[in-house]
Amino acid sequence: MSEPSRDPSVFQEPHMRPAGKPTSLAGKSPDERRPDESQIDLLSASGQGVHEEPDIFPNRSPDVLRQDWSCSQCGYNLRGLEAGHPCPECGHRELYRPAPPGSASYAGWLAGKLAGGSPRVGWLTALTLALAGGPLAILAALFKSGQSGVAGLSTLILAVVFGPAAEEALKIALAWCVVEVKPYLFRRAGQIRLATVGAAFLFAVIENFIYLNIYVPNPSLSLVVWRWTVCVALHTGCTLLAANGLIRVWRRTVTELRPPELSSGLPELAWAIIIHGFYNLVAIFFEFAAR
Ligand SMILES: [Zn+2]
Repeated sequence: MSEPSRDPSVFQEPHMRPAGKPTSLAGKSPDERRPDESQIDLLSASGQGVHEEPDIFPNRSPDVLRQDWSCSQCGYNLRGLEAGHPCPECGHRELYRPAPPGSASYAGWLAGKLAGGSPRVGWLTALTLALAGGPLAILAALFKSGQSGVAGLSTLILAVVFGPAAEEALKIALAWCVVEVKPYLFRRAGQIRLATVGAAFLFAVIENFIYLNIYVPNPSLSLVVWRWTVCVALHTGCTLLAANGLIRVWRRTVTELRPPELSSGLPELAWAIIIHGFYNLVAIFFEFAAR
């Protein structure tokens, strides 16, 4: 019985080894596994995952989830169930399980970060992101066209699809990045709201100054009132909605100590884009009707 190789070379990966020569640790277990099964078991060994221990391999020992662990599909808390058990709510089989305690993992890294640091940093982060996010989103507003003249199809698509998509995405982009790489900087959901809705408010203010001074040099009183009420409410409201998706992602990350699954926060962002685009469409329609 030779010692298992400690050579970290890629050529020592199980699938690179000569066929029919089981060399894995698990190959020596008393239940006399077949060679292919033992190789599979090595692949699923604790702490080997790129993210957090996918539970997609057969023969992995049963493991009861002893912490909050939500279903990726419906959010149901799978705590108390065996890892890989179909979700009682929706039937989805969660492919990830918590890292073993004490292992070098995302969970350990995040727990350490959350234990240190001051809660004040969260508010400071939020304020910084709010101040930076507004000017960043203005980049999207500068692509607006068709303020006068014939509104062609490309102008319509720009105003109804690309404009809202770019503005809504950019208003929460910075907070989105922080949740992805440093989720521990936020300690409360309110800090994410400040970072995003603050950026949206600042964006609306800057956009109004651009609109009411450059795009429309002598605006009517009704346009001024409209822009400072409805447009500001639209921008902050849409971002408030989009932020809910991001907050859900962040909350799951910091309570379950698992890598953020940012795609699960996209539905709210999509709704914000749709509402914003629909508003623009209606506004263009009335602009045409008024001519
Ligand atoms: Zn479920």
